[in-house]
Amino acid sequence: MENIEISIEFNPEIIQRIYSIIKEDPDYKPKPYRRGMLRIEQALEATSDTRALRLGDGILEEVADLFAKQFPRRKAIIVADTNTYAAAGKRVEEALRKAGIEQESPFIFESSTLHAEYSCVTELVECFKKCEAIPIAVGSGTINDLTKLASHLVGKRYMCVATAASMDGYTAYGASIRTNDIKQLFPCVAPQAVLVDTDVILQSPTKMTTSGYADLLAKMTAGADWIIADWLGVEPIDEKAWKITQSGFHEALLLTEKASVQDEHTTIAKLMEGLMLGGFAMQLVKTNRPASGAEHLLSNFWELERRIKKTKAVSHGDLLSIGILAITAFYEWVVNAPLEDLDIQKCCANWPDAEAYERQAKEAISEIGLNVCIQEAKAKYISREQLGIQLQQLKEYWPEIRERLSQQLIPYKEMKAKMKQIGLPTNPEEVGISRSHLRQTFLCTQYMNRRFTVLDLALRTGYMNTWLNGLFGKGKIWEI
Ligand SMILES: [Zn+2]
Repeated sequence: MENIEISIEFNPEIIQRIYSIIKEDPDYKPKPYRRGMLRIEQALEATSDTRALRLGDGILEEVADLFAKQFPRRKAIIVADTNTYAAAGKRVEEALRKAGIEQESPFIFESSTLHAEYSCVTELVECFKKCEAIPIAVGSGTINDLTKLASHLVGKRYMCVATAASMDGYTAYGASIRTNDIKQLFPCVAPQAVLVDTDVILQSPTKMTTSGYADLLAKMTAGADWIIADWLGVEPIDEKAWKITQSGFHEALLLTEKASVQDEHTTIAKLMEGLMLGGFAMQLVKTNRPASGAEHLLSNFWELERRIKKTKAVSHGDLLSIGILAITAFYEWVVNAPLEDLDIQKCCANWPDAEAYERQAKEAISEIGLNVCIQEAKAKYISREQLGIQLQQLKEYWPEIRERLSQQLIPYKEMKAKMKQIGLPTNPEEVGISRSHLRQTFLCTQYMNRRFTVLDLALRTGYMNTWLNGLFGKGKIWEI
């Protein structure tokens, strides 16, 4: 039943929004990102959780209208931290009051201590259970994820007012929450409505925007991993999710080059749109595959390692930036490898049996000083026989796979220049990672997540060290 309601409700909302821009404003000049609005409309049509998205300059006060349309006659409760309450929460509260929407007192976390910890979800759940109100998350990643999971646990839908273009999780299915140091993706429903006021986003710290760009750039390598997984029959590409993610990514990327000549609202709107589209794609396939590949395995590993070893935290965007760049450089060796001549028999003979594989995984992980469970490694183990079939497929289709990868990827040099332009770090040392540690990370991180990526391709073809030497060997980009 709910699905039927969804398709009826959001369509008029979005169409009316585009329509009102065109029809009711005589001075309306199409903005470069209007086409994106139409694409967002298509994305909304494909997804089931989010019914409305409003993105524009100076539209924060529209929160009352959006809330009233999506949750008629319901009470609201704002969830924010002290920073996001000051940035937008207070104005949202006033706008709702003016519109006569009843509210519970806002739930405000102390910003300095707020993390996406499960204990915070529990606090919110307790609060939501006591009232009938619909939560309005005013914030970015952490506030949104906490509210998303807590709402889901008490069976409520919620709404989100974004305060930074820092990540692509606003419209994503699932919340990334930490329990016992490990970040886990908890399955839960995305917000019913999202409002993005670019004026508010532009007030957020620059560092948050650069983080958002990192999540956007990650779609290039994540997409490449999905291409390989698709051709090898591991995880087929969902064409709709693919189009939704990749279109937003390419356009926003183009805009970084023209950033200086575009007005900043347009640039931010484009970035936000790319991030939202990534979220919608994740909503569609109910995993984060469209937006996350080997680059995220590397950065998630470094985040975990820092927490366990209690070393200084570095932002997700900065670590991810190094992850993307490292995987981009790695891919240059992959696409140039003569995999059409692969000696499958040799690969299979060298492939460990299940026990030896588990030992290898344990060794690789403990070498880096971590003692985490290797369930994930075991989950993606395949037998020699299965490997033979997979590699046969790889060998046969390699010219096509290589062609598709070449279209998907941009060269390392270009990626590095783009990152510099955006303000992202491009040297592992800048985020406290030595070159030898980076090399080691390639060898162990694949054992810590069941997702099939280019790192598995390297391991299964026996090319891992050859390709790593291409990055860390004598005279190479990160010579050790
Ligand atoms: Zn990310």
